[in-house]
Amino acid sequence: MGVQIKRREFIMALSATGISSVVASSAAAQFSWTLSSPKKKVVPELDFNAYLAKIRKFNKVHPTDYYLHSDQMPLLKSTTLRFKRLQRLVGHANFHLLSFDDAIAYSKRYSQVDKFTPDELDFLEGLFDETADHYGFMGQKPIKNLTNRIPKREVIKIRHTGNYLYKGKPVEMYNRIKKDLGDQVILTSGIRSVIKQFFLFLSKAYSSDGNLSLASRSLAPPGYSFHGIGDFDVGQVGYGKLNFTAQFARSDVFRRLQKLGYIDLRYTRDNLLGVRFEPWHVKVV
Ligand SMILES: [Zn+2]
Repeated sequence: MGVQIKRREFIMALSATGISSVVASSAAAQFSWTLSSPKKKVVPELDFNAYLAKIRKFNKVHPTDYYLHSDQMPLLKSTTLRFKRLQRLVGHANFHLLSFDDAIAYSKRYSQVDKFTPDELDFLEGLFDETADHYGFMGQKPIKNLTNRIPKREVIKIRHTGNYLYKGKPVEMYNRIKKDLGDQVILTSGIRSVIKQFFLFLSKAYSSDGNLSLASRSLAPPGYSFHGIGDFDVGQVGYGKLNFTAQFARSDVFRRLQKLGYIDLRYTRDNLLGVRFEPWHVKVV
């Protein structure tokens, strides 16, 4: 598939998401393509290439990346560390299901976590409500409510993984994959609550000096992750961190999944959502 075709898809995706108007109206928008009129969209080749460079070199800083304001940096640090202490308190597995209200309750009750300050809560709420497209993440937001709860009766803990899956389609698909591929395949990440996604996203943003664009190329912002509603990640046993790299596409497990028709990726190579290629992420919903 040539660049021309992809470019056209790119433009169509932009109009479908309504991004073009955001780009036209917002000075903060990270995209710099020009629009000659609201109806006629012109995306210069150069900017499409710049877009591809961003998602291919997702972990590098790019000139148009969007950062948190310097005033917010202390809040980014304190909330990230508080989530880390909270995860240590409740354990990794439970943390996957923890709701926002649970997090607040635990933080009040346990001095080793200590309660969220009003400024921290404002910061978290603001970040959750902010539309992620202005820093480059163009996926949908399946979880619209910060206080969304994951009912325990709707989930199943998957043995030896510390992860949960929703009953019904997700667990059925995982069991089928296990049956077809055997011990070589493992669930590497299942359900993630808003809180878990917050922790992953904020940790990434913190380690990249508040660069929200860079963080969102690797991790969906809170509310935007389909792990919240059924998607999951698989890996090859013994493959370690390579399970979360493009290298996974060369693993036995990936090849077998592909051959058996399981591969319907949410974040394909050179996708238009502003996200890196994620061959390990299985789309369920
Ligand atoms: Zn995933």
